[in-house]
Amino acid sequence: MAALNLVIFGPPGAGKGTQSEHIKEKYGVFHLSTGDMLREAIKNGTETGKLAKQYTDGGKLVPDEVVIKIVDEKVASIDAAQGVLFDGFPRTLDQAKALDALLKKNGRAINAVIYLNVPDEEVVQRLTGRRMCPGCNTIYHITGKPPKVEGKCDKCGADLIQRSDDNETVIRQRLSAYHAQTTPLVEYYKGKGLIKEVGLHGSPQETSAKVFELLG
Ligand code: ADP
Ligand code: ZN
Repeated sequence: MAALNLVIFGPPGAGKGTQSEHIKEKYGVFHLSTGDMLREAIKNGTETGKLAKQYTDGGKLVPDEVVIKIVDEKVASIDAAQGVLFDGFPRTLDQAKALDALLKKNGRAINAVIYLNVPDEEVVQRLTGRRMCPGCNTIYHITGKPPKVEGKCDKCGADLIQRSDDNETVIRQRLSAYHAQTTPLVEYYKGKGLIKEVGLHGSPQETSAKVFELLG
């Protein structure tokens, strides 16, 4: 059977990271998050990281060619038998077209696009309470998904941090980038019959149940 290739998208704070963990567990796909890759590059002070930081700090999108290049290199390194879950990519129409081309080059195609449709005010509320583990990238929320020990990662024990772009000013900027540049992808993927839309569902577990139902 051909590998399962999925895209998960929605506004910042829609729960893409958390859902991606659940999808990865269930389907054994490789979780490719451009946000995680860029944060890693920033942490390591690479050339890509230095460039990316100028954009991410202001809640702006990193230029397409930069992101497309890191995705292209990563996909080429993944075993052909393993599926890939794209999280945070594509975010523009040009990225979507580049993804189609690079998948084709690797003998892959997108099987489904999971669209987490969450309203702006919910996004702001979620992101201001978000905390993450810098060691293993697990996501927590101070009230919605608190760690067992305050401030510590359940999985690896590292001290949790708040992302530098999770403050209200930058969140509003990320939302406006999302509405201007990313929402056109809904029509693009609808046209290809790939969209599986998931609205607001109580807990992350309930959302996952819906996602699994749609993926079959
Ligand atoms: P969010 O919670 O905003 O969805 P991500 O972790 O996916 O966050 O991304 C954080 C930041 O990294 C974005 O605000 C953007 O600056 C940059 N970024 C991540 N993925 C992309 C992409 N595909 N294209 C351009 N910029 C990206
Ligand atoms: Zn951790």
